[in-house]
Amino acid sequence: MPVSDEGTPVHVIGAGPAGLATAAALRERRISSVVLEKSPSVGATWRAQYDRLRLHTTRRWSALPGLPIPRPAGRWVHRDDFVAYLERYTEHHGIEVATGVEVDTVERRGERWTLHANGGRRLTAPVVVIATGHSHTAHLPPWPGRESFTGDLLHASRYRSPGPYADRDVLVVGAGNTGTELALDLAEGGASRVRLAVRTPPHLTRRSTLGWPAQASGVLCRRLPAALADGLAARAPRSSATDLSAHGLPRPGTGPYTRAGQGAHPVRDTGFVRAVREGRVEVVAAVESFEGPAVRLADGEEIKPDTVVAATGYRSGLEELVGHLGVLGDDGLPLRPGPRAHPAAPGLFFTGFTHPVSGLLREIARTAPRVARAIDRATA
Ligand SMILES: Cc1cc2nc3c(=O)[nH]c(=O)nc-3n(C[C@H](O)[C@H](O)[C@H](O)COP(=O)(O)OP(=O)(O)OC[C@H]3O[C@@H](n4cnc5c(N)ncnc54)[C@H](O)[C@@H]3O)c2cc1C
Repeated sequence: MPVSDEGTPVHVIGAGPAGLATAAALRERRISSVVLEKSPSVGATWRAQYDRLRLHTTRRWSALPGLPIPRPAGRWVHRDDFVAYLERYTEHHGIEVATGVEVDTVERRGERWTLHANGGRRLTAPVVVIATGHSHTAHLPPWPGRESFTGDLLHASRYRSPGPYADRDVLVVGAGNTGTELALDLAEGGASRVRLAVRTPPHLTRRSTLGWPAQASGVLCRRLPAALADGLAARAPRSSATDLSAHGLPRPGTGPYTRAGQGAHPVRDTGFVRAVREGRVEVVAAVESFEGPAVRLADGEEIKPDTVVAATGYRSGLEELVGHLGVLGDDGLPLRPGPRAHPAAPGLFFTGFTHPVSGLLREIARTAPRVARAIDRATA
């Protein structure tokens, strides 16, 4: 769609859940906006995810304002149903999305923001909302010798399904939700051997227990200090259902809420625990370095997998876009996410850059009306 900024008071960058929810909330207040999206369609991050992915947050707590996710999608919504929901959401709210527009930098010029986009486009608006995603840029650690590895090395963002890895010896690196699920997918999908390299053992929990979703505990404890929430979690009876101490994954010494605050969320088990107990996934030490066909692990062991899948996380990639404005912290995340703009950048808002244990989609849904209200006030 061609993009014109004549009279557009708000440009939203990114047509993922956060950008779409913000545009819908602005529309509620009769503020028009255009959502600029670099990909050909909305929900690009979700379209690119692996085939078996389901939300680990509940259908109800993953919906965006003004439109529930349809009940037939079930409690744990599949990737494809979530993408379909985002398409329907865009239509339902009449959100204007300009696809194929990639914003490279955002600059302050007088009272307005200027966006420099691909194809030499320059757009201006008094208000800009950045919703380019917490999981923007795949992060591959700079392991020594990485370039010399003679096997295949890919980031988890490029993994779709186990088919290409049938009969192969695969090492998955990183024991977060993605790493554990990909290890399970590979083990179920015919890889000859699956190992999971773990630096810090994760908290393992069931996605739900007797109908109580793990997310609900996160929602209840969202506002408590992490130490207090950890104390409460420690008092709950310890379930042996997710205990893998005998299989190389001891229970972590730090509580789940403190760990979540450091960016490591509990792993929601969807079959991984059983796969480890049955020996279909083997836990090994963290990756130290590569040399030719070999991967050296932190305990000195050297292994020779055919393929290494690095489930080693993402970076926000905000430095290129707004790094020069002084609005980011050392971690590359906005100093002022949500409805309060940074004093150095009036009219510039960020959404989708926190990652609470109560679920990012829920947080996005709650933040959108607050950002819209702040914009309403700022432009009144
Ligand atoms: C594998 C995985 C599973 C997850 N599961 C859950 C879950 O179960 N529950 C939950 O609550 N959260 C989950 N999350 C976290 C979070 O909810 C999602 O990452 C969600 O997509 C975040 O929405 P967003 O709109 O902030 O970012 P994104 O969905 O990443 O959308 C950002 C959009 O911006 C576009 N864009 C980026 N840069 C530019 C640019 N410069 N110019 C123009 N467009 C640009 C991108 O193409 C993309 O469409 C998961 C994340 C991942 C990676």
